[in-house]
Amino acid sequence: MHPMVKPALRRGWRDLNTVQFGMTPAHALTLGPVDTATGSFLEQLNGTRGLALLREEGRRCDLPDGQVDAVLEHLAQAGLLDDATAAGPAAAALRDRPDALDRLRPDLASLTLVTSRPGEALDLLAARRATRVQVRGAGRVGVTIARLLSAAGVGEVDVRDVGEVHPWDVTPGGLPAKSVGARRTEAARGAVRRSAPQAPRRRSPAARTGGEPGNTLVVLAPRDDVAVHTPDPAVSAPLTETGTPHLHAGVVEATGVVGPLVLPGRSACAGCLHAHRADRDPAWPRLVAQWRCRRPREVPPCDLTLATTVAGLAAAHALAFLDGFVPSSVGARWEVSLPALSWRARTVAPHPACPCGGAEKAKGERTSMDEEARETMAGQRPTTVSRHRADAARPTGTWRAHV
Ligand SMILES: [Zn+2]
Repeated sequence: MHPMVKPALRRGWRDLNTVQFGMTPAHALTLGPVDTATGSFLEQLNGTRGLALLREEGRRCDLPDGQVDAVLEHLAQAGLLDDATAAGPAAAALRDRPDALDRLRPDLASLTLVTSRPGEALDLLAARRATRVQVRGAGRVGVTIARLLSAAGVGEVDVRDVGEVHPWDVTPGGLPAKSVGARRTEAARGAVRRSAPQAPRRRSPAARTGGEPGNTLVVLAPRDDVAVHTPDPAVSAPLTETGTPHLHAGVVEATGVVGPLVLPGRSACAGCLHAHRADRDPAWPRLVAQWRCRRPREVPPCDLTLATTVAGLAAAHALAFLDGFVPSSVGARWEVSLPALSWRARTVAPHPACPCGGAEKAKGERTSMDEEARETMAGQRPTTVSRHRADAARPTGTWRAHV
């Protein structure tokens, strides 16, 4: 082990004996009281020295016997310590590809802020390569989501859609201008390949033989704005039946939508959303029937910056889930409208009449995603990396650890 105080956290002394790691309330911690000798010793924790050398440095800094180990233990408990050498098999493989790792260094540094175990951030980053995401919808939102996930290290990103690329599909983060007129799915897949930090993982055997491989996550990003506003439960039903987590995202008129992220049988789905709306508004089913029976507009409104914003947030929610966290889109739809651009979350609870079974699970529980549900979903992931809750991965606010 080569201990390293997480370099992603900016360090500052609040007074002579108290050091603050990090700047923002979400991740900052204070450590104290810290005497001068220990404060100097912290500088040695930069990942270049092993334990034996650090103990030697401790003696040189006049630290009492055992103090080096005590400091390291306290830092580790506070989640402030990383290990420059720790690596499981996947992490070791990523270390062996410095060109790919260099592309992802800011992402790795960011992951150290939401993980606690030394070496865990690299394990999570490397584990993305074993995940498979399918994005349905290759318009302004869908292709950007797919490219972002690919660039963030997701090993297999498949895109599905029909038809050809139109000039208005071209965006800086999505389809390139040269793809106009090309088949939409092929153009999107090419853009995804070019975004990856390293060569794509070999396609799963089922995909190569034309079968349907298991997806870690499916993102539903339809180009049709009716499907964004009121996702058809029949479309996502097969995903619910196979227990496939799926995330809804898109732009409808001048509103961007991210969520819900559906954990089948555990949290609210498109059917729950539709049933709640019908409960609140008797005219809802009649409106939906009219919207759906009209032909989709060839050029629906879709502001470029709004589409990119939605894609960025949707990809972030997807990645948080793939990394083992439970993002806030589980049981909620995040919405943002032009021109004020204030994000708001609309809670989507499981509906008792929905066949997804989410309501039964939620019965008698305080929220739709209880502790047991989170643990169970954790067990369904193909990765061996331990999972966390987004709201419990790290304590929020400034937290004091004593050395
Ligand atoms: Zn449901």
